[in-house]
Amino acid sequence: AAQAMQDELIKSTLARIRYKLFVMSGKGGVGKSSVAVNIAAALSTMGYRVGILDVDIHGPSVPGLLGIKGQLDVDRGRIIRPKQYAENLSVVSMESLLKDPDQAVLWRGPMKTSAIRQFVADVSWGDLDFLVIDSPPGTGDEHMTVLKTIPDALCVIVTTPQEVSLADVRKAVNFLQYAKAGILGVVENMSGLICPHCREEIELFKKGGGRELAERYGLPFLGAIPLDPATVVASDLGKPVVMLSEETPVKAALMQLARTI
Ligand code: ADP
Repeated sequence: AAQAMQDELIKSTLARIRYKLFVMSGKGGVGKSSVAVNIAAALSTMGYRVGILDVDIHGPSVPGLLGIKGQLDVDRGRIIRPKQYAENLSVVSMESLLKDPDQAVLWRGPMKTSAIRQFVADVSWGDLDFLVIDSPPGTGDEHMTVLKTIPDALCVIVTTPQEVSLADVRKAVNFLQYAKAGILGVVENMSGLICPHCREEIELFKKGGGRELAERYGLPFLGAIPLDPATVVASDLGKPVVMLSEETPVKAALMQLARTI
C-alpha cells in the first residue's frame, strides 16, 4: 500500500513537470555535470521554471558547481523543499542525504532506488517547465530507477570526441535502446580549444566524433561545446558559466544548446 501511495505521489509530481531531461554519459570526467547544470541554468535565464535533480550518490558534483551546501528543509516530516538557487532554478542533490559530503558511501541498489523515488515523490518541485536530472557516469541502478520512475524522461548523452569516451557511449546507447528510453540526442563536450593567444582552434581531444556517433545511431546531434578555461573558473566560483556576465565561447555554445533543446 505504501508503494502504491508513493506511485500516486510520483505521478502527481511528474504531471506538473513538462519536460524531464536525463543527462548521461558513458564515462566520467567528460563534463556531464557541467553540461547538466549549464543547460538548467541557461533555460532558467530564458525564463523557464527549472529544477535540477542530482541522483549521483557516490560523486555528487551539482552542489559544488553551484556552490550550495547543506541539508534540505523538511516540512511536516515529509515534504522536502528544494534549494532555491535562483528565482526559477531549484536544486535537490543526493549529497543532502550525506552527513559528511567528503565521506565515501556504500549504498546498495535498493537504497538508491528508494532515495530517487523519494526525491520525486516527496519534493515540492511545483510547476516546472524542465527537470534536469544529473546521473553518475555509465549505466547502473540509478539510471534504471530514473527510467522506470520517470518513463517520459528524454536522455541527453554527453561525450568527448575521444574514442575512449565514444566507446562507452555506444554501450550507453545500447542500454537506452534496450530500456526503450527516449533519446533527445548527443552533445560533444571538450570539442576543440580556442587558443587565447592566436584564436586558432586546437583539436585537443580530436573533433566530430560525437556528431559521427549520433549519425551512426540515427540520433539528433545537439551541439558541440568547446574546451574553455572559463568553465573551470566558473565552477570554482560556484556559478554556472552561462550565468557569468563575461561572454565566452563556451557560454555562447551552451546557450545555443539550451535553445536547441
Ligand atoms: P562529469 O560529470 O562527466 O564527471 P564534470 O562536469 O564534473 O564531468 O567535469 C569534469 C571537469 O572538466 C571539471 O573540472 C569541469 O570544470 C571541466 N570541464 C567540463 N567541461 C568543460 C569544458 N567545456 N571546458 C573546460 N573544462 C570543462
